[in-house]
Amino acid sequence: MELLGVIGNPIGHSLSPVMHSAAFKAVGRSALYLPFLVEADQLSQAIYGAQALGFTGLNITVPYKEKVLPYLTELTDEAEAVQSVNTIKFTEDRIIGHSTDGEGFMAAAEYELGYDFRGKTVLIVGAGGAAKAVTAALLNKQCQVYITNRTLERAEQLVHSLNRFGTQLEVVPLNSAALEPVMDEIEVVVNTTSVGMAQNLGQTPLAPSLLAPHQLVIDIIYNPEKTQLLKAAEQIGCRVQNGVGMLVWQAVKAWEFWWGITPPAEIMYQAVKASLS
Ligand code: NAP
Repeated sequence: MELLGVIGNPIGHSLSPVMHSAAFKAVGRSALYLPFLVEADQLSQAIYGAQALGFTGLNITVPYKEKVLPYLTELTDEAEAVQSVNTIKFTEDRIIGHSTDGEGFMAAAEYELGYDFRGKTVLIVGAGGAAKAVTAALLNKQCQVYITNRTLERAEQLVHSLNRFGTQLEVVPLNSAALEPVMDEIEVVVNTTSVGMAQNLGQTPLAPSLLAPHQLVIDIIYNPEKTQLLKAAEQIGCRVQNGVGMLVWQAVKAWEFWWGITPPAEIMYQAVKASLS
């Protein structure tokens, strides 16, 4: 039996075990996927321990997506671009780090909405790890991307870290006066902040009055399934998408990285939705 798992802290909320386990069952794969709570000072032991025990791979979640880098022998181009790893593959003598968050984001919109991001103008709200992965994937599709964030400095750092894309990427302060002049151009708004989750349920990361009906609004939060931002956007007449698809498709892309096969995405969607309800 193959062994896999997800490492993070906290980890109890992770939906990865139910998603992967449902897909293993559906395709008859003999594999076990478990959640592992790991303390920061035990991260290297956890990675090397999994390698020693013959694990096929791991997923890495908050807060270790960057901290894990020193323990890997190589990075894929996707992980190198964002200096972040959410998927590890063990081979006999190598520990390879990969990032499927950006690919997962793109694939979800393509699958659920038939949306093609190529050349679109996108506003990203947030400048954390998820924002970076999503932005890098969008820039690879020749999008024009604006970044806005509560802490402007962090948005500037994100732009600096992806500066090889030049003028395709710009920072805008997170206030209505600064955002209004660019909103007409914006075709897609993506919330990558945690605003709208349990601790600030009912809040929106930017004023809904900035939105217009022609825009696609994506919130990568998946719990709750419909954040206040998505509710407001729907009322305005925007197309909306939540974060369930990104969660599922980053897992689909992990299978492709581990085994070169595509798992049944619909089974994974069902497993996530059943857990959330
Ligand atoms: P992160 O690196 O900690 O970044 C958090 C971001 O949220 C920062 O831009 C932060 O702004 C902003 N923020 C937090 N609290 C805020 C507040 N009260 N007001 C305004 N801005 C606030 O986290 P992350 O890893 O990027 O994850 C962000 C979100 O994406 C989480 O909700 C996570 O669940 C979700 N996510 C979903 C998927 C998926 O598969 N669907 C994948 C990854 C992440 P500052 O810089 O000002 O602090």
